[in-house]
Amino acid sequence: MASGPAFVGIKFCPECNNMLYPREDKENRQLLYACRNCDYKQLADNNCIYVNKITHEIDELTHIVSDVISDPTLPRTEDHPCPKCQSKEAVFFQAQTRRAEEEMRLYYVCTNQHCTHRWTE
Ligand SMILES: [Zn+2]
Ligand SMILES: [Zn+2]
Repeated sequence: MASGPAFVGIKFCPECNNMLYPREDKENRQLLYACRNCDYKQLADNNCIYVNKITHEIDELTHIVSDVISDPTLPRTEDHPCPKCQSKEAVFFQAQTRRAEEEMRLYYVCTNQHCTHRWTE
């Protein structure tokens, strides 16, 4: 690496010295840094961005209110036992993500009132 202060997360293209932007390679499930000025790409050597993504997912889960278990309009399933209390019934629904390209993820909430554990597939 070049000398000077290391700014974590900011990388520069060795070909044309423009900033590299993180990009997800969805097919290979890898994180890349890509230059917008030329075709240069490199594999990310850390998983910081993925860590952020996971944190974001956990955030979404904690924002699910436990009230959903008493919402009669939500579908219920007995095929997905709660991983925490083994209760058979769970309410499930699709995440309301802002990004349309994100996969259709299902969220489950345990209907046991003492548990209300939330998880996702
Ligand atoms: Zn470049
Ligand atoms: Zn449970």
